[in-house]
Amino acid sequence: MPASHYVGRFAPSPSGLLHFGSLITAVGSYLQAKSKKGIWLLRIEDIDPVREMPGAATEIQNTLQAYGLQWDNTVIYQSQQSCCYEKILTQLKNLDLTYYCQCTRKNIKRNGRPYLGLCRTKQYGSKNNALRIDLSTLTPLISGFTDKLQGHIPITCTPDFILQRKDKLYAYNLAVVADDIAQGITEVVRGADIINTTGLQLALYQLLHIKAPTYLHLPLAVSAPGIKLSKQNHAKAIKIKNARATLLDALAFLGLDLNKNSAPKTCDEILNWAVKHWSIDKLPKQIEVQI
Ligand code: GLU
Repeated sequence: MPASHYVGRFAPSPSGLLHFGSLITAVGSYLQAKSKKGIWLLRIEDIDPVREMPGAATEIQNTLQAYGLQWDNTVIYQSQQSCCYEKILTQLKNLDLTYYCQCTRKNIKRNGRPYLGLCRTKQYGSKNNALRIDLSTLTPLISGFTDKLQGHIPITCTPDFILQRKDKLYAYNLAVVADDIAQGITEVVRGADIINTTGLQLALYQLLHIKAPTYLHLPLAVSAPGIKLSKQNHAKAIKIKNARATLLDALAFLGLDLNKNSAPKTCDEILNWAVKHWSIDKLPKQIEVQI
């Protein structure tokens, strides 16, 4: 076990294969963990079977290994973590902080977003209803947080959000907090596209009286302003056969430029070099970087 207490993670959803944007998150979180002599865990976020691409979870692992990104310990699959989510749900229910809600997205939109907690006082049962967290008692209100790269991020609103959907699937914000707690994550390094979920996750930590990890949201690779590389935008999957060149491109994006001709030959050697030279001061300061 390394001396450092740093525990980081990479948490891809297997709704598609790794693309250049997800590689940046994988490399950034790996280098941040390894430069602190910490451990780097892999969690496959296969919480929503409908969105899952068959074979993607295995392919993601093969790709990470081909790029030299070897995780520590065994891989966690969210689909096998129900006990952990139930435990947190029970805690929140016992604190009287949850309620069942019948509102659909459509009628929330009609009543004016954000969700105003209309079902808080109605005693709906679990059948065909989503379970929400009641954030009306949150004190102090979360007004913002300090991101290690982006600085102060204000949070203007934390509406009651869904913990468990009406089809009984666990919601992302519940699962991510439950897993980060269970895995002892000390710092979350992920893409800035989900920076807005952080306030909701911090609310859960506060209600559970558990110390939250620190956060570092990496800049996003975009193909044009506002168009991030994503599965939804059909970003191309990265190839195993181009691993060395693509890894060098990802490092250049993260502020670690290495000459392609004189750089080490293998991904492992390149990553060893990158761990030694990694510094968050070298990262691009803007939230989007066009590639
Ligand atoms: N599973 C999410 C994704 O693939 C990342 C969640 C997180 O890092 O908190 O975008």
